[in-house]
Amino acid sequence: MMEENVSAIATPSGKGGVAIIRISGKNPLEIAEKMFAPAGKIKVKDFEPYRMYPGQIDGGTFFDYGLCVYFKGPASYTGEDIVEFQCHGGENVARGILRQTFRLGAKPAGRGEFTKRAFLNGKLSLASAEGVADMINGESDAEVKAGFLLYSEKLTGRVREMQSELTNILAGIDVSVDYPEEDIEEEHLQEIAPRLAALSEKTSAMIASYAVGKKIKSGVTVAICGKPNTGKSSLLNKLLGYDKAIVSSVAGTTRDAVEGVLEIEGRKFNLYDTAGVRESADTIENIGIARAEAIVQSADVAVFVEDYPFGADEEDARLLEMVGDKPLIKVFNKVDLSAPQTDVEADVYTSAVTGEGIERLKTLLYEKSYGARGEDAAFLIEERHHGALVRANERLQSAIRACEMGQPLDLIGIDVKEAWDALGEITGETATETIIEEIFSKFCVGK
Ligand code: GDP
Repeated sequence: MMEENVSAIATPSGKGGVAIIRISGKNPLEIAEKMFAPAGKIKVKDFEPYRMYPGQIDGGTFFDYGLCVYFKGPASYTGEDIVEFQCHGGENVARGILRQTFRLGAKPAGRGEFTKRAFLNGKLSLASAEGVADMINGESDAEVKAGFLLYSEKLTGRVREMQSELTNILAGIDVSVDYPEEDIEEEHLQEIAPRLAALSEKTSAMIASYAVGKKIKSGVTVAICGKPNTGKSSLLNKLLGYDKAIVSSVAGTTRDAVEGVLEIEGRKFNLYDTAGVRESADTIENIGIARAEAIVQSADVAVFVEDYPFGADEEDARLLEMVGDKPLIKVFNKVDLSAPQTDVEADVYTSAVTGEGIERLKTLLYEKSYGARGEDAAFLIEERHHGALVRANERLQSAIRACEMGQPLDLIGIDVKEAWDALGEITGETATETIIEEIFSKFCVGK
């Protein structure tokens, strides 16, 4: 596709070593010719693609020395011709050069416009573009890693395999519908049903992997709960390695949920400190208690902190009831004050003062959230992809039921087609303009 030239600064705003200004479109080299004077005898129009050339860049009211590179479409990020300037990384340097590209006819690129053009030109699937965004926005190593898997078309690869099997099934159905002898239809039903079942099984397995993928993307939610003064805030601070929560020896001072983000083994954990769960005349504290209850209920893992003297009283019982059957880590804190009591049952003994047991607590947090440490290729991290797979599976299940009931093949074909369409939302083939717009609107300008 030969679109008008668009340009943007590709590097973040602020000061840096280098800034990059990127132009993509039908003839960015013509713009470069008018604003870049290469060192030596070479002319811009004779530039070899994928080679850096030093020279003088025109910033309109100033000049800079920098580099220019030309990417020849379709072997470029967007699939179009691209020119990039590398200049000194000053905000005004980059802006001046960008303005000069505008003066020479380039239009300002919208959010994610380069990647959107890449998608529209078939350079990457929609899921892959989302992977790019996940990598850029990734808040943990695991999210970056998962983003890269998406970006490198791992999910799309699987989805395309399933789509091609669905296409084959559909082709078979079309043949039988065109030659509607009874026995062919019956034969076909028997042949199609197990193939649909196999596809549904694959889809279900992918859907199930979202449990991990979701945690990688959003982080594991950890509720730190327990009676006031047991050391919840102190433990949170120790886990985070800096003082975030307010520590006080007056019971009931942690009135609000305090969030901190912790990375364990490259994965994100959102920690919430909860106010003590107890009956209180203080309304502010009561609000805190209600909030604590909400946090515990929505948490993936609960850390229950107690200290000596230990004794499961009514308050503890109420807390544990709130935790229900979600993964729970029982922490006995303040071991520096008193040796662990033999009658105290805890998963880990800690001291928020000396740091004892903190590493063990982190290990337990990881294991309770993800199971034992191990590699897993989580590329289902986007809710959108999960939703599309769920819809695809519903159609597959419906088709399987229709086979079992011996319904006409063309009816089954409708379900099969709809399953294909649902999968196409992931690759982008059937994604609506609105969905596409929404995805790229989350990108930054220059990507
Ligand atoms: P919270 O109400 O459960 O959040 O408890 P805080 O974190 O505010 O701690 C209550 C008091 O216990 C503070 O004075 C802390 O300094 C103290 N504390 C917390 N953890 C420990 C610990 O492991 N050892 C000792 N000696 N004191 C602790």
